[in-house]
Amino acid sequence: MTLTRNALAQRDSTDSLATLREQFDLPAGIIYLDGNSLGVLPRATAERVQAVVTQEWGTDLIRSWNTAGWIDLPLRVGDKIGRLVGAAPGSLVVADSTSINLFKVLAAAVRMQAQDKPGRRVILSESDNFPTDLYMAQGLADLLQQGHELRLVPAEQLHAAIDESVAVVMATQVNYRSGFMHDMAATTARAHAMGALTIWDLAHSAGAVPVNLDAACADFAVGCGYKYLNGGPGAPAFVYVAPRHQERFWQPLAGWMGHAKPFAFTTDYQPAPGIGRYLCGTPPVLSMAALECGVDTLLAAEPLGGMAAIRAKSIALVDTFIELVESRCACFGLALATPREAARRGSQASFAHEHGWPIMQALIERGVIGDFRAGADGAPGLLRFGFTPLYVRHVDVWDAVEVLRDVLASGVWREARFQQKAKVT
Ligand SMILES: *Cc1c(COP(=O)(O)O)cnc(C)c1O
Repeated sequence: MTLTRNALAQRDSTDSLATLREQFDLPAGIIYLDGNSLGVLPRATAERVQAVVTQEWGTDLIRSWNTAGWIDLPLRVGDKIGRLVGAAPGSLVVADSTSINLFKVLAAAVRMQAQDKPGRRVILSESDNFPTDLYMAQGLADLLQQGHELRLVPAEQLHAAIDESVAVVMATQVNYRSGFMHDMAATTARAHAMGALTIWDLAHSAGAVPVNLDAACADFAVGCGYKYLNGGPGAPAFVYVAPRHQERFWQPLAGWMGHAKPFAFTTDYQPAPGIGRYLCGTPPVLSMAALECGVDTLLAAEPLGGMAAIRAKSIALVDTFIELVESRCACFGLALATPREAARRGSQASFAHEHGWPIMQALIERGVIGDFRAGADGAPGLLRFGFTPLYVRHVDVWDAVEVLRDVLASGVWREARFQQKAKVT
């Protein structure tokens, strides 16, 4: 049966998650398919941040660290994110950026393995991993000067490449370009069988797909606040450490907020018990207030089936998008770069095209906002479309594909204004 717009409108009318869209301030006339890069603004955020600024900061001033609970924000919001990624309270904390958190947990994992598996020097990761992950590992290895080797294989080969030379597996669960998704439980189990520890980057998983860190026996994880968690531009990130590892070592960014008694102002560092030692400096209160509003938009789905319901809708949206692009935009040179099998992908669909950049600029001008990612090693760039079931409707998929078809069929993307490069893609 061929899909029609009416059939998709019908799906929207029976969608049990449809009301969640009302939580957002979506500008009129756009279809937003970039929630994997910057989530949209929740309605609650402006008012909440305003209250933190005018009341908690403006009026209550320094007292708010205690009276408004600012000091507890990292753990409190961390526990909320924990509900979305299967982490028990006290095992996840909000702090810093994903890059910095990765440094902390990689340093901890390497240090643990130096004791448990002396002689192992391999950090195994993906050649197509998000660059910051690789850069942070390179930076740490250079700092340590202990001969660590960053061994890189394509994401699809990572699982099989885990052997007994590997100290730490550092993987991004959902690949930012292709959307390829690892089986976290299976790969963690293999790593453990080989004596390796795992670090999972959940930048494109948290709030996008069901994640169960505790059940998967994951060791460490990090993730982003500004993507599917809707925390706003530059929102703080999070870090998870399995309780069994939390107190084995300090992480090296031993700032005062990770101290057992920051306000004792002692000369010597004494790490806080539990996950608190993964904090470094003073939390960015305004950004954390905004992040909490974003996380709440996902927790609002809990009575409606939670991440499982979000995932079911996400799969339907992406399946429909792929089917419509392939049927209605055939012969325009688009090649699917995302696994067709839903279990092997996150909440996005990417298509390679030789002229991906100007095509995406033309789409954006027409109100369909996705983004462009340069291809790996000279491969064609990707048109990347993220699907956020909280606010993307089934008819949006239809309408976006119609615009894409029009942009491709008309050749409008060849116009000069779409060729201009920008700093951020
Ligand atoms: C987006 C993303 C990051 C971003 O890290 P920042 O420190 O927030 O800039 C890191 N890792 C992956 C896999 C990402 O997709």
